[in-house]
Amino acid sequence: MIEKNIEANNLFASVLSDVKPSPIHAFDEKVSDLPNILKLTIGEPDFSVPEHIKQAAVAAILADDSHYSVSAGTKQLRQAASHFLADRYDLHYDADTEILTTIGATEGLYAILSAILDENDEVIIPTPAYPVYAAMTRLNKGNPLLVDISQDNFILTPDHLRAILANHTHVKALILTNPSNPTGVTYSAEALSDLADVLRGTDVLVISDEIYSELRYDDQHVSMATFLPDQTLVINGVSKSHAMTGYRIGIIAGPAALITPVNMVHSFIIMTPSNPAMAAATEAFDSSLSASDTEKMKNAYRERRDLLVSKMTALGFEMATPSGAFYIFAKIPENLNQDDVAFAYDLVDQEKLAVVPGSGFGPGGEGYIRLSYAASMAMLTDAMARLSSYCENNSAT
Ligand code: PLP
Repeated sequence: MIEKNIEANNLFASVLSDVKPSPIHAFDEKVSDLPNILKLTIGEPDFSVPEHIKQAAVAAILADDSHYSVSAGTKQLRQAASHFLADRYDLHYDADTEILTTIGATEGLYAILSAILDENDEVIIPTPAYPVYAAMTRLNKGNPLLVDISQDNFILTPDHLRAILANHTHVKALILTNPSNPTGVTYSAEALSDLADVLRGTDVLVISDEIYSELRYDDQHVSMATFLPDQTLVINGVSKSHAMTGYRIGIIAGPAALITPVNMVHSFIIMTPSNPAMAAATEAFDSSLSASDTEKMKNAYRERRDLLVSKMTALGFEMATPSGAFYIFAKIPENLNQDDVAFAYDLVDQEKLAVVPGSGFGPGGEGYIRLSYAASMAMLTDAMARLSSYCENNSAT
Protein backbone atom coordinates (compact mmCIF):
# COMPACT_ATOMS: atom_id res chain seq x y z
CA MET A 1 0.00 0.00 0.00
CA ILE A 2 2.72 2.46 1.01
CA GLU A 3 4.82 1.48 -2.01
CA LYS A 4 1.88 1.94 -4.36
CA ASN A 5 1.20 5.43 -3.03
CA ILE A 6 4.83 6.43 -3.48
CA GLU A 7 4.88 5.24 -7.08
CA ALA A 8 1.65 7.05 -7.79
CA ASN A 9 2.89 10.51 -7.08
CA ASN A 10 5.85 12.72 -7.83
CA LEU A 11 6.00 14.51 -4.53
CA PHE A 12 8.50 12.22 -2.86
CA ALA A 13 12.24 11.77 -3.19
CA SER A 14 13.00 9.10 -5.79
CA VAL A 15 15.01 7.22 -3.18
CA LEU A 16 11.76 6.28 -1.43
CA SER A 17 10.93 3.81 -4.18
CA ASP A 18 14.09 1.85 -3.18
CA VAL A 19 13.07 1.71 0.47
CA LYS A 20 10.62 -0.93 1.58
CA PRO A 21 8.79 -1.02 4.91
CA SER A 22 10.56 -3.32 7.41
CA PRO A 23 9.90 -6.94 6.34
CA ILE A 24 9.57 -7.91 10.00
CA HIS A 25 6.73 -5.50 10.62
CA ALA A 26 5.19 -6.16 7.21
CA PHE A 27 5.02 -9.91 7.95
CA ASP A 28 3.88 -9.31 11.52
CA GLU A 29 1.03 -7.05 10.38
CA LYS A 30 -0.16 -9.59 7.83
CA VAL A 31 -0.55 -12.34 10.41
CA SER A 32 -1.48 -10.35 13.53
CA ASP A 33 -5.26 -10.50 13.19
CA LEU A 34 -5.53 -14.25 12.63
CA PRO A 35 -7.41 -16.03 15.43
CA ASN A 36 -5.19 -18.04 17.85
CA ILE A 37 -2.01 -16.85 16.20
CA LEU A 38 1.11 -17.30 18.35
CA LYS A 39 3.74 -14.77 17.34
CA LEU A 40 7.47 -15.01 17.88
CA THR A 41 8.07 -12.23 15.39
CA ILE A 42 8.86 -8.97 17.15
CA GLY A 43 11.96 -8.19 19.21
CA GLU A 44 10.10 -6.56 22.06
CA PRO A 45 10.89 -7.42 25.70
CA ASP A 46 7.82 -8.87 27.40
CA PHE A 47 8.76 -7.64 30.90
CA SER A 48 7.29 -4.64 32.70
CA VAL A 49 9.52 -1.66 33.32
CA PRO A 50 10.86 -1.97 36.89
CA GLU A 51 8.77 0.06 39.36
CA HIS A 52 11.54 2.42 40.53
CA ILE A 53 12.20 3.40 36.90
CA LYS A 54 8.53 4.19 36.28
CA GLN A 55 8.53 6.26 39.46
CA ALA A 56 11.40 8.37 38.16
CA ALA A 57 9.31 9.31 35.10
CA VAL A 58 6.29 10.08 37.29
CA ALA A 59 8.41 12.23 39.61
CA ALA A 60 9.70 14.25 36.63
CA ILE A 61 6.14 14.89 35.44
CA LEU A 62 4.94 15.89 38.91
CA ALA A 63 7.92 18.21 39.35
CA ASP A 64 6.83 20.09 36.20
CA ASP A 65 9.90 18.99 34.32
CA SER A 66 8.15 20.06 31.15
CA HIS A 67 10.53 22.36 29.29
CA TYR A 68 13.08 21.89 26.54
CA SER A 69 16.28 20.23 27.65
CA VAL A 70 19.39 20.40 25.44
CA SER A 71 19.78 18.24 22.33
CA ALA A 72 22.50 16.09 23.95
CA GLY A 73 20.10 15.29 26.78
CA THR A 74 20.22 16.14 30.48
CA LYS A 75 23.56 16.20 32.21
CA GLN A 76 22.25 13.66 34.75
CA LEU A 77 21.47 11.17 31.99
CA ARG A 78 24.80 11.67 30.24
CA GLN A 79 26.61 11.17 33.53
CA ALA A 80 24.59 8.04 34.29
CA ALA A 81 25.34 6.69 30.80
CA SER A 82 29.02 7.53 31.20
CA HIS A 83 29.19 5.63 34.52
CA PHE A 84 27.27 2.73 33.01
CA LEU A 85 29.67 2.37 30.06
CA ALA A 86 32.70 2.65 32.34
CA ASP A 87 31.39 0.21 34.92
CA ARG A 88 30.02 -2.42 32.57
CA TYR A 89 32.41 -2.27 29.59
CA ASP A 90 35.45 -0.28 30.73
CA LEU A 91 34.65 2.44 28.16
CA HIS A 92 35.49 5.96 29.28
CA TYR A 93 33.56 8.88 27.82
CA ASP A 94 33.23 12.42 29.08
CA ALA A 95 29.60 13.17 29.91
CA ASP A 96 29.88 16.75 28.64
CA THR A 97 31.45 16.22 25.24
CA GLU A 98 31.38 12.55 24.31
CA ILE A 99 27.80 11.34 24.94
CA LEU A 100 24.50 12.16 23.23
CA THR A 101 20.98 11.16 24.22
CA THR A 102 18.90 10.00 21.25
CA ILE A 103 15.32 8.93 20.59
CA GLY A 104 16.13 5.25 20.91
CA ALA A 105 19.03 3.63 19.12
CA THR A 106 17.05 4.23 15.94
CA GLU A 107 17.34 8.00 15.83
CA GLY A 108 20.99 7.74 16.84
CA LEU A 109 21.68 5.61 13.77
CA TYR A 110 19.79 8.00 11.55
CA ALA A 111 21.59 11.07 12.91
CA ILE A 112 24.99 9.46 12.39
CA LEU A 113 24.22 8.41 8.82
CA SER A 114 22.82 11.87 8.02
CA ALA A 115 25.94 13.49 9.42
CA ILE A 116 28.47 11.34 7.54
CA LEU A 117 26.99 10.41 4.16
CA ASP A 118 27.40 12.25 0.90
CA GLU A 119 25.56 11.01 -2.17
CA ASN A 120 26.68 7.47 -3.17
CA ASP A 121 28.92 6.99 -0.17
CA GLU A 122 29.02 3.36 0.85
CA VAL A 123 28.15 1.69 4.13
CA ILE A 124 29.27 -1.88 4.84
CA ILE A 125 26.43 -3.90 6.31
CA PRO A 126 27.22 -7.53 7.19
CA THR A 127 24.11 -9.63 6.47
CA PRO A 128 21.76 -11.09 7.56
CA ALA A 129 21.19 -7.72 9.27
CA TYR A 130 18.60 -5.55 10.94
CA PRO A 131 16.76 -4.25 7.83
CA VAL A 132 16.62 -0.68 9.09
CA TYR A 133 20.35 -0.18 8.36
CA ALA A 134 20.04 -0.51 4.57
CA ALA A 135 16.82 1.53 4.49
CA MET A 136 18.38 4.38 6.48
CA THR A 137 21.52 4.31 4.34
CA ARG A 138 19.39 4.68 1.21
CA LEU A 139 17.26 7.43 2.75
CA ASN A 140 20.48 9.35 3.35
CA LYS A 141 21.46 8.89 -0.33
CA GLY A 142 24.14 6.33 0.46
CA ASN A 143 24.68 2.83 -0.95
CA PRO A 144 24.52 -0.17 1.35
CA LEU A 145 27.27 -2.74 0.67
CA LEU A 146 25.62 -5.94 1.82
CA VAL A 147 28.20 -8.57 2.78
CA ASP A 148 26.90 -12.10 3.25
CA ILE A 149 28.60 -13.50 6.37
CA SER A 150 26.44 -16.62 6.69
CA GLN A 151 29.32 -18.90 5.65
CA ASP A 152 31.54 -17.61 8.47
CA ASN A 153 29.34 -18.43 11.45
CA PHE A 154 27.64 -15.06 10.92
CA ILE A 155 30.77 -13.15 11.99
CA LEU A 156 32.38 -10.48 9.81
CA THR A 157 36.01 -11.46 9.21
CA PRO A 158 39.11 -9.38 8.42
CA ASP A 159 39.18 -11.08 4.98
CA HIS A 160 35.68 -9.82 4.21
CA LEU A 161 36.75 -6.33 5.17
CA ARG A 162 39.99 -6.40 3.21
CA ALA A 163 38.17 -7.61 0.10
CA ILE A 164 35.61 -4.81 0.32
CA LEU A 165 38.15 -2.10 0.99
CA ALA A 166 40.26 -3.29 -1.96
CA ASN A 167 37.29 -2.97 -4.33
CA HIS A 168 35.42 0.09 -3.09
CA THR A 169 36.67 3.63 -2.83
CA HIS A 170 33.69 5.36 -1.22
CA VAL A 171 33.31 3.36 1.97
CA LYS A 172 32.38 5.71 4.81
CA ALA A 173 31.24 3.34 7.52
CA LEU A 174 30.76 -0.17 8.78
CA ILE A 175 27.67 -0.97 10.83
CA LEU A 176 28.51 -3.74 13.26
CA THR A 177 25.77 -5.27 15.41
CA ASN A 178 27.03 -6.95 18.55
CA PRO A 179 25.11 -8.91 19.83
CA SER A 180 23.35 -9.38 16.53
CA ASN A 181 19.78 -9.09 15.43
CA PRO A 182 18.72 -11.37 13.71
CA THR A 183 21.28 -14.06 14.54
CA GLY A 184 21.96 -13.66 18.27
CA VAL A 185 25.66 -14.10 17.50
CA THR A 186 28.24 -12.14 19.54
CA TYR A 187 31.78 -11.02 18.69
CA SER A 188 34.71 -12.12 20.85
CA ALA A 189 37.41 -9.65 21.87
CA GLU A 190 39.78 -11.36 19.45
CA ALA A 191 37.36 -11.07 16.50
CA LEU A 192 36.85 -7.36 17.21
CA SER A 193 40.56 -6.73 17.64
CA ASP A 194 41.26 -8.39 14.26
CA LEU A 195 38.65 -6.20 12.54
CA ALA A 196 40.07 -3.12 14.24
CA ASP A 197 43.53 -3.95 12.88
CA VAL A 198 42.17 -3.78 9.32
CA LEU A 199 40.27 -0.54 9.88
CA ARG A 200 42.80 1.40 11.94
CA GLY A 201 44.13 4.35 9.98
CA THR A 202 41.47 4.16 7.25
CA ASP A 203 38.67 6.73 6.91
CA VAL A 204 36.03 4.14 7.79
CA LEU A 205 33.90 4.88 10.82
CA VAL A 206 32.49 1.98 12.82
CA ILE A 207 28.90 2.46 13.91
CA SER A 208 28.78 -0.15 16.63
CA ASP A 209 25.18 -1.01 17.45
CA GLU A 210 25.42 -2.52 20.93
CA ILE A 211 21.77 -2.11 21.94
CA TYR A 212 21.71 -5.77 23.10
CA SER A 213 25.00 -5.57 25.05
CA GLU A 214 23.35 -6.34 28.40
CA LEU A 215 21.72 -9.47 26.99
CA ARG A 216 24.76 -11.65 26.58
CA TYR A 217 24.40 -15.11 28.07
CA ASP A 218 27.67 -16.98 27.95
CA ASP A 219 30.35 -14.37 28.50
CA GLN A 220 30.99 -10.67 29.12
CA HIS A 221 30.21 -8.11 26.39
CA VAL A 222 33.19 -6.40 24.77
CA SER A 223 32.76 -3.22 22.74
CA MET A 224 34.41 -2.44 19.40
CA ALA A 225 35.38 0.90 20.95
CA THR A 226 37.86 -0.96 23.17
CA PHE A 227 39.98 -1.64 20.10
CA LEU A 228 39.25 1.30 17.81
CA PRO A 229 38.25 4.19 20.09
CA ASP A 230 39.02 7.04 17.69
CA GLN A 231 36.96 5.59 14.82
CA THR A 232 33.97 4.13 16.67
CA LEU A 233 30.61 5.52 17.63
CA VAL A 234 28.91 3.23 20.14
CA ILE A 235 25.12 3.05 20.04
CA ASN A 236 23.38 1.75 23.14
CA GLY A 237 20.30 2.53 25.23
CA VAL A 238 17.71 1.22 27.63
CA SER A 239 15.18 -0.24 25.15
CA LYS A 240 16.24 -3.87 25.40
CA SER A 241 18.16 -3.96 28.69
CA HIS A 242 15.31 -2.46 30.73
CA ALA A 243 12.27 -3.40 28.63
CA MET A 244 11.84 0.32 27.86
CA THR A 245 11.27 0.25 24.08
CA GLY A 246 8.38 2.72 24.33
CA TYR A 247 10.31 5.28 26.36
CA ARG A 248 12.53 5.93 23.32
CA ILE A 249 15.87 6.69 24.92
CA GLY A 250 19.19 5.68 23.38
CA ILE A 251 22.72 7.00 23.56
CA ILE A 252 25.68 7.55 21.26
CA ALA A 253 29.18 7.60 22.75
CA GLY A 254 32.38 8.49 20.93
CA PRO A 255 35.23 10.98 20.67
CA ALA A 256 34.15 14.64 20.84
CA ALA A 257 35.38 15.26 17.26
CA LEU A 258 32.76 12.77 16.03
CA ILE A 259 30.03 13.53 18.56
CA THR A 260 29.91 17.31 17.93
CA PRO A 261 28.82 17.18 14.25
CA VAL A 262 26.43 14.31 14.95
CA ASN A 263 24.89 16.36 17.76
CA MET A 264 24.29 19.24 15.36
CA VAL A 265 22.36 17.02 12.94
CA HIS A 266 20.57 15.32 15.82
CA SER A 267 19.47 18.72 17.23
CA PHE A 268 17.76 19.54 13.93
CA ILE A 269 15.94 16.21 13.91
CA ILE A 270 14.69 16.14 17.48
CA MET A 271 15.40 19.46 19.25
CA THR A 272 15.56 17.64 22.61
CA PRO A 273 14.52 14.26 24.03
CA SER A 274 11.53 13.94 26.38
CA ASN A 275 12.30 14.88 30.01
CA PRO A 276 10.24 12.18 31.81
CA ALA A 277 11.76 9.52 29.55
CA MET A 278 15.25 10.84 30.29
CA ALA A 279 14.55 10.83 34.03
CA ALA A 280 13.49 7.18 33.76
CA ALA A 281 16.54 6.27 31.67
CA THR A 282 18.83 8.02 34.17
CA GLU A 283 17.38 5.81 36.90
CA ALA A 284 17.77 2.75 34.66
CA PHE A 285 21.45 3.42 33.95
CA ASP A 286 22.18 4.35 37.57
CA SER A 287 20.53 1.21 38.86
CA SER A 288 22.34 -0.92 36.25
CA LEU A 289 25.43 -0.48 38.36
CA SER A 290 23.85 -2.91 40.79
CA ALA A 291 22.62 -4.90 37.77
CA SER A 292 19.65 -6.54 39.47
CA ASP A 293 16.81 -5.58 37.02
CA THR A 294 18.56 -6.69 33.87
CA GLU A 295 20.10 -9.71 35.58
CA LYS A 296 16.64 -11.08 36.34
CA MET A 297 15.46 -10.58 32.77
CA LYS A 298 18.68 -12.03 31.41
CA ASN A 299 18.30 -15.19 33.47
CA ALA A 300 14.77 -15.62 32.17
CA TYR A 301 15.88 -15.09 28.56
CA ARG A 302 18.70 -17.60 29.01
CA GLU A 303 16.24 -20.24 30.20
CA ARG A 304 13.99 -19.54 27.20
CA ARG A 305 16.89 -19.68 24.79
CA ASP A 306 17.97 -23.04 26.21
CA LEU A 307 14.47 -24.42 25.75
CA LEU A 308 14.31 -23.35 22.10
CA VAL A 309 17.82 -24.55 21.31
CA SER A 310 17.19 -28.02 22.73
CA LYS A 311 13.73 -28.46 21.16
CA MET A 312 14.72 -27.10 17.76
CA THR A 313 17.97 -29.05 17.61
CA ALA A 314 15.96 -32.20 18.31
CA LEU A 315 13.69 -31.28 15.37
CA GLY A 316 16.71 -31.02 13.04
CA PHE A 317 17.21 -27.25 12.95
CA GLU A 318 20.78 -25.95 12.88
CA MET A 319 21.31 -22.45 14.15
CA ALA A 320 23.69 -19.57 14.47
CA THR A 321 25.25 -19.64 17.98
CA PRO A 322 22.65 -17.74 20.01
CA SER A 323 24.78 -16.18 22.72
CA GLY A 324 23.14 -12.75 22.87
CA ALA A 325 20.04 -10.62 22.17
CA PHE A 326 16.82 -12.71 22.16
CA TYR A 327 16.72 -14.36 18.77
CA ILE A 328 17.25 -17.80 17.30
CA PHE A 329 18.23 -17.79 13.63
CA ALA A 330 17.67 -21.31 12.45
CA LYS A 331 18.23 -23.12 9.15
CA ILE A 332 15.15 -24.92 7.92
CA PRO A 333 15.93 -28.68 7.91
CA GLU A 334 16.50 -30.15 4.46
CA ASN A 335 13.45 -32.38 4.56
CA LEU A 336 11.17 -29.34 4.78
CA ASN A 337 10.33 -26.54 2.34
CA GLN A 338 13.55 -24.56 1.88
CA ASP A 339 11.79 -21.40 0.72
CA ASP A 340 11.73 -19.44 3.99
CA VAL A 341 8.84 -17.17 2.97
CA ALA A 342 6.67 -20.10 1.87
CA PHE A 343 7.72 -21.98 5.01
CA ALA A 344 6.71 -19.08 7.29
CA TYR A 345 3.31 -18.67 5.61
CA ASP A 346 2.71 -22.40 5.72
CA LEU A 347 3.55 -22.50 9.42
CA VAL A 348 1.00 -19.74 9.98
CA ASP A 349 -1.63 -21.53 7.88
CA GLN A 350 -1.20 -24.94 9.44
CA GLU A 351 -0.17 -24.24 13.04
CA LYS A 352 -0.94 -20.56 13.62
CA LEU A 353 2.69 -20.00 14.55
CA ALA A 354 4.39 -16.84 13.23
CA VAL A 355 8.17 -16.59 12.79
CA VAL A 356 10.04 -14.18 10.50
CA PRO A 357 11.38 -15.44 7.13
CA GLY A 358 15.18 -15.10 7.14
CA SER A 359 15.46 -13.65 3.61
CA GLY A 360 13.98 -10.38 4.93
CA PHE A 361 17.32 -9.79 6.66
CA GLY A 362 19.28 -9.77 3.41
CA PRO A 363 21.77 -12.07 1.64
CA GLY A 364 22.60 -15.18 3.67
CA GLY A 365 19.20 -15.23 5.35
CA GLU A 366 17.52 -17.38 2.68
CA GLY A 367 16.42 -20.74 4.03
CA TYR A 368 16.44 -19.49 7.63
CA ILE A 369 13.76 -18.35 10.06
CA ARG A 370 14.10 -15.96 13.00
CA LEU A 371 12.30 -16.61 16.27
CA SER A 372 12.19 -14.04 19.05
CA TYR A 373 12.25 -15.55 22.54
CA ALA A 374 11.05 -12.34 24.16
CA ALA A 375 7.96 -14.37 25.06
CA SER A 376 6.84 -16.35 28.12
CA MET A 377 7.90 -19.96 28.73
CA ALA A 378 4.27 -21.00 28.29
CA MET A 379 4.16 -19.37 24.85
CA LEU A 380 7.50 -20.85 23.86
CA THR A 381 6.47 -24.33 25.00
CA ASP A 382 3.28 -24.02 22.94
CA ALA A 383 5.31 -22.69 19.98
CA MET A 384 7.64 -25.69 20.11
CA ALA A 385 4.68 -28.08 20.17
CA ARG A 386 3.26 -26.35 17.08
CA LEU A 387 6.63 -26.40 15.29
CA SER A 388 7.05 -30.07 16.13
CA SER A 389 3.60 -30.86 14.76
CA TYR A 390 4.40 -28.90 11.58
CA CYS A 391 7.67 -30.80 11.09
CA GLU A 392 5.94 -34.13 11.61
CA ASN A 393 3.20 -33.33 9.08
CA ASN A 394 5.41 -31.85 6.38
CA SER A 395 8.63 -33.80 6.49
CA ALA A 396 9.55 -35.17 3.03
CA THR A 397 11.11 -38.38 4.38
N1 PLP B 1 19.29 -1.90 16.70
C1 PLP B 1 18.94 -3.19 16.63
C2 PLP B 1 19.95 -4.20 16.20
C3 PLP B 1 17.63 -3.59 16.93
O1 PLP B 1 17.28 -4.88 16.83
C4 PLP B 1 16.69 -2.61 17.33
C5 PLP B 1 15.29 -2.98 17.63
O2 PLP B 1 14.82 -4.06 17.40
C6 PLP B 1 17.11 -1.29 17.40
C7 PLP B 1 18.40 -0.97 17.08
C8 PLP B 1 16.15 -0.21 17.81
O3 PLP B 1 16.38 0.18 19.13
P1 PLP B 1 15.52 1.36 19.81
O4 PLP B 1 14.19 0.80 20.17
O5 PLP B 1 16.33 1.77 21.00
O6 PLP B 1 15.40 2.44 18.80
